[in-house]
Amino acid sequence: MDKKRVCVIGAGPAGLSAAVEGARLGLKIDLFERSEIGKHIRCAEGFYDSMHLVDKPEVGVRYKVDEALLKVKNEYRVGCRNINLWMIDRGEWQQGLAEQARAEGARIFEKARITSDQLADLESEYDWIIDATGVPSITSVRYGFRDYYKRNGAVTVQYILKGDFTSLGERLKFLAFPHYKGYFWVFPKSSTTANVGLGYFDPECKDRNLSGKQLWARLEQLMAQERITGQIIKRTGGIVPIRLREQLQYGKVLLVGDAAGCASPLHGGGIDTALITGREAVRWIAGNKGKKSSFSDTIWCILSPKLDVEKGLCQIWKELDLEALDKAAAFIAQNWQNIGIMKLMRYSIRLLPKLSTGLRLRRGLIG
Ligand SMILES: Cc1cc2nc3c(=O)[nH]c(=O)nc-3n(C[C@H](O)[C@H](O)[C@H](O)COP(=O)(O)OP(=O)(O)OC[C@H]3O[C@@H](n4cnc5c(N)ncnc54)[C@H](O)[C@@H]3O)c2cc1C
Repeated sequence: MDKKRVCVIGAGPAGLSAAVEGARLGLKIDLFERSEIGKHIRCAEGFYDSMHLVDKPEVGVRYKVDEALLKVKNEYRVGCRNINLWMIDRGEWQQGLAEQARAEGARIFEKARITSDQLADLESEYDWIIDATGVPSITSVRYGFRDYYKRNGAVTVQYILKGDFTSLGERLKFLAFPHYKGYFWVFPKSSTTANVGLGYFDPECKDRNLSGKQLWARLEQLMAQERITGQIIKRTGGIVPIRLREQLQYGKVLLVGDAAGCASPLHGGGIDTALITGREAVRWIAGNKGKKSSFSDTIWCILSPKLDVEKGLCQIWKELDLEALDKAAAFIAQNWQNIGIMKLMRYSIRLLPKLSTGLRLRRGLIG
């Protein structure tokens, strides 16, 4: 029997995961990457496997994160030993995934940009196409929804800094802003390098509309406030799409990863969901005959439990002023090790009466 031919576009986590799993399942995979594997990555490189649905990273791990610092007014230590959170070098990690994909029989073409105009030709050449091109996806350019990502995305700026980060050790630091505005992060990769960035999440928050220049100035203000110094090695950033699209299939094209809009609405992390959606796309293709549900339904079914919990937490965060958020941070620091994110939602409902806006929210959530 002829193998199904699948064209994967984009070699980020979503495309690479599709290539590894697709080749394993016996599909004929061609992966096209406009750049080189592991180059031009925009990421703080904290890999949080929030659903326990992906493999532990084998290559490129810098350290397992056992503790994070969460600051609002005061700074709290949050134990992370029981959750799957690693600091990785994404370049190395993605090269490792590409090697795995090749070993399984996938063909990978680097410096091979695909344009939206080429999609139609590819549709006649391949049985399926997986669009893992991130934001804006080439499918969005073809079908006219490229501004979806900006409207439904976090706005971020980030420096890669060289400096002295020994005081942080192997701890990620977060400075959270009230009312779900977003957060500032310092993720050390070693004692001498760190990813330091700022993301605004809430679509209604006016800081999302700051100009690029203003965003960089805001980042530097926060660095000065938190006494973070160092030599700037690289400036990155951009949009992180935090709203899963309803429609994930356009003809023979399946959207995965950021192209599908599936980064976390709570913290913007999208590595894990990119891996999951890439993998599920090829599983769905491999089981094509007699499929019970559409690709969009399949992905929604897998990600909904996580997204529902996260959206609930965002809703709570949105209601919290500085004082209340600080109390919530203290609560998380005391209880995180024992409860994890899924249970946090239930605990938050119990906690809320103690907070200023709690009762109203509590009624909204359980009434
Ligand atoms: C500043 C910042 C910090 C972040 N920090 C974190 C973090 O710490 N943890 C986390 O989990 N997530 C983080 N994210 C989000 C995370 O980076 C993304 O969710 C994740 O990379 C999505 O993976 P992807 O494979 O869908 O897309 P991408 O990683 O964007 O990969 C897309 C790939 O497609 C290629 N491509 C694009 N267009 C074409 C084309 N036309 N032809 C061929 N190839 C093409 C690109 O070169 C790229 O290799 C961060 C994002 C930003 C912007």
